Amino acid sequence: MREIQKLFPSMDGNDDQRAELLSYLNVILTKIDELKDPDKLSLGEMPDYTEDYYNRVIEEAAVPTQGMPMKEVIQKLLELVEGHRYVNRNYVANAAPLPNISSIIGNFVAVLVNGNNLWDVEGPAAAAAEVKITSMLSKLVGYDENISAGYTTWGGQGAVFNSLRLAIARYAPDSNQNGIPQNLYCFCSELSHYSLYKSVEATGIGVENMIRVKANADHSMNLADLKEKMVNVISNGGVPLYVLATMGTTDTFGIDDIAGIKQLAEDLERTYGVEPIYIHADTAMGGMYSFFNDYDFGSNPLQFEDNVNEVLKSYQQKFKHIKLADSMVFDFHKLGQTPYITSLFLIKNREYLKYVDLDAAETPYVGNRGYGSYHTGYTLECSRMGSALAIYASLSALGMEGYQKLLANYIRVNIAFRKKLLQEIPNVAITNDISPVTTFRFYPERSKWDDEINGLLPIEEMLEINQFNDAFAEVIGAERDTIFFGNTKKQCLVRAANSNKRISLYAHKFFTISPYSTMEEVDRYVGFLKEHVELFQRSSIKA
Ligand SMILES: *Cc1c(COP(=O)(O)O)cnc(C)c1O
Repeated sequence: MREIQKLFPSMDGNDDQRAELLSYLNVILTKIDELKDPDKLSLGEMPDYTEDYYNRVIEEAAVPTQGMPMKEVIQKLLELVEGHRYVNRNYVANAAPLPNISSIIGNFVAVLVNGNNLWDVEGPAAAAAEVKITSMLSKLVGYDENISAGYTTWGGQGAVFNSLRLAIARYAPDSNQNGIPQNLYCFCSELSHYSLYKSVEATGIGVENMIRVKANADHSMNLADLKEKMVNVISNGGVPLYVLATMGTTDTFGIDDIAGIKQLAEDLERTYGVEPIYIHADTAMGGMYSFFNDYDFGSNPLQFEDNVNEVLKSYQQKFKHIKLADSMVFDFHKLGQTPYITSLFLIKNREYLKYVDLDAAETPYVGNRGYGSYHTGYTLECSRMGSALAIYASLSALGMEGYQKLLANYIRVNIAFRKKLLQEIPNVAITNDISPVTTFRFYPERSKWDDEINGLLPIEEMLEINQFNDAFAEVIGAERDTIFFGNTKKQCLVRAANSNKRISLYAHKFFTISPYSTMEEVDRYVGFLKEHVELFQRSSIKA
């Protein structure tokens, strides 16, 4: 067993085994650092993704008969890292994080003690961290920390699924035994994330019972349309069970009016005598901006510029109401810069959990003992990773102000990018409000955005402009190792002049997610676009 034991950390904390582990870490850190290049997006050379790339991988893979020396294992791992995208200043595509050092260390600690977050007896560090961050963030958003509950789960999508499960169980407590009622309806913005789509599939509510609500020009949910659709469901004998209020749409950062949604729900409850309607705030993208809920814009202690202040202040007006939601999520692995997966599902009232908790008799292995006092039998996972430790470490290292500076910088850079883009490129339009993401759309000749958004363009022309942008996305996508811009095929839905059909508009995305995306980089971002769009237009005219 000696040689097998050598593959593990020590039992007694001896110096030799620690030095060995440290030496491996040192090699990995050094080698990855050697692959970094601030002028490129990828670590080293990208593999040649030939058509049969994964077929060859399948062909060659097999468990080795004899284990390899660690040196070789590290070599193999580093081969996998070759060509990996790295979130540096050239990454402006999506909300992908560069985990901060504290969160890396937090994650590492979680792995070293390898607690199981299911039960504090098996994972006391993560259990206590989970209780801490739940309290911290409850206080921050205005939940009563003595009543709220929270646990880390599988992403913003997991939070939506978990919240829908709570909503079903609250409405129909015996649905766990008998299955769910057939007449439940959910509502969300037509621009919301597909998480709810998946969740109505998986809970058995059915996609047909998920009602999409029109979005306003600012990409928030249209409340008149929501009301009409909810009343319609009630009139037909349906139950309006659940509203998903998106606080920061994935592509355009539209923020739903949650105070208005809550008001509407309460009005309907009173008028029609329906059961309380569950509201989940999908704050996966935007939730971090609640870190400004108590920021004093008058004294402005962090001295943000006026134009940055203005945007943050408008967020404060919206995010100060998120406490009205029955639940929400903090997706730290988006704007919070921590490793995947670090998502805290936060629940206003821990009473909701009693409907989904397991009976002690159903958990014979763990939990029903005199020892231990924290057991998460209500989660969909059984064993759970201790990702609360990474979140806790990150919150500790950055603090309120660290996060405020980081989040303000996303806005600052976007403001500058917009200005420069419009200065340099005549045939571009910016298609969303100022936020950490800028969406923009090119036109073959001059910007026709105003006509387009007002329904004055014929469908043929809109599709042509879509095609133009789609082709350009391919062009710059091929050069993503220099600067990686994102894109979306559904930035919003717009009516055409000659059709009743609403058309999905394509747009490009500039998402300044890296702490290395700073004001100094803005000229380079715009220069890249300008150069490529000019080339693209010249070549498409020739063709
Ligand atoms: C990203 C996102 C999700 C999904 O979150 P994951 O952490 O990727 O599971 C859900 N809703 C919104 C609005 C998002 O932006």
